[in-house]
Amino acid sequence: MEFENYSEATRILYEGHTIKGMSMSPEAFPLFNTTAFNMGDLNDVDKTYEEKGYTYVRTRNPNREALAQLISFLENGKKTLIFSSGMGGITTTYFALLNPGDHFICNSYIYGETFDAINQLLKKCSVEVDFVDFTDLQSVRAAVKPNTKMLYTEVVSNPTDIVADIENLADIAHEAGAWLMVDNTFTTPLAVKPMELGADIVLNSLTKFMNGHSDALAGSITVDDCALYDRIHEIRMLTGTSASPHTAWTVFRGMQTVHLRVNKQMENAAKLAKALEEHPIVLKVNHPSIPSNPQHELAGRIFKDNTHMTGMLSFDMPDDKDKINAFMNRLKLARYAPTLGGIRTTLSHPLHSSHHHVPEEDRKKMGISYGTMRVSCGIEEGEDLIRDFMYALEVFQ
Ligand SMILES: *Cc1c(COP(=O)(O)O)cnc(C)c1O
Repeated sequence: MEFENYSEATRILYEGHTIKGMSMSPEAFPLFNTTAFNMGDLNDVDKTYEEKGYTYVRTRNPNREALAQLISFLENGKKTLIFSSGMGGITTTYFALLNPGDHFICNSYIYGETFDAINQLLKKCSVEVDFVDFTDLQSVRAAVKPNTKMLYTEVVSNPTDIVADIENLADIAHEAGAWLMVDNTFTTPLAVKPMELGADIVLNSLTKFMNGHSDALAGSITVDDCALYDRIHEIRMLTGTSASPHTAWTVFRGMQTVHLRVNKQMENAAKLAKALEEHPIVLKVNHPSIPSNPQHELAGRIFKDNTHMTGMLSFDMPDDKDKINAFMNRLKLARYAPTLGGIRTTLSHPLHSSHHHVPEEDRKKMGISYGTMRVSCGIEEGEDLIRDFMYALEVFQ
């Protein structure tokens, strides 16, 4: 053997590393669970750095690279970075692109932790922040200042599915010389590709629909501008928010079925929204596919079609805690879980989670009551899902 003249202690470290297959072409993408890659001599070191080859795991790794390429393709963007979480992607991008004195305009309908990150971290960095209702484009335009650097929104908001007009928001941002950053987590690139509508930076929490199996925490940032990519890459290295190889491998495997899963989840949401809308006890259904939704026309412009918009919906039941509990206990399929986007349908109660700390008056303005329930549709057969909800809603009769 190659290492037979060495001691046992040494050979333990080298045997096995040169097996046949290290240069093969395996059918499934292997896990490169290594913190570094070997280089030959100093010429090879120079060449690796010059070509941005694989060096240390926090900098670059093949599993992150494979996942990044897949997401760049889906989002129709040039370059993607993979992060340890959606929040890692959001905060690292803020740190990379915003400076003290810059002005930041955020949609007032925003994910709870994003709201907290802006209020706690951006303000700490002396970034000026304004929250504006993005359904009112006039107000967005009026909020722009000479130092406005970024506009930030989700495609549809949590939990009432308020749609953002990405095309017009991109125009407003670009006229001001600012970037539009869009969170596509609730919608995914299967429903909408924000970069095609003018967004400069697109975030996905891969933890949700993209991985879909509720077993990994990760995020991605996609951009078209390679200079932006380099700046965010450098700060990701310093903040240490790169995803681990194992996480990237897990999400890459989960995403092999993203087309089958997410399209079905969106179809299920449209079907369930329609069935709930027709139910006499349901006070309101929030989903852009519903024809009576005031943003139905805007949704028709933003999304691929009427049945592929988002797998997320919410609906209002009467504000009766005992009846709501009876409803939840009667459901056989949908379970309560503080996440979304998984293959099984899950519920969440905004008043017990995302909107717990929002004052009642503000909550009412957002259309959130005690009876509001959020649903993340899974890949069950749509008819089974509808039957489950209809049966459980009988507790109100
Ligand atoms: C979950 C979520 C995030 C944060 O993602 P993590 O992967 O949990 O850090 C950001 N935005 C939205 C809309 C989310 O649902």
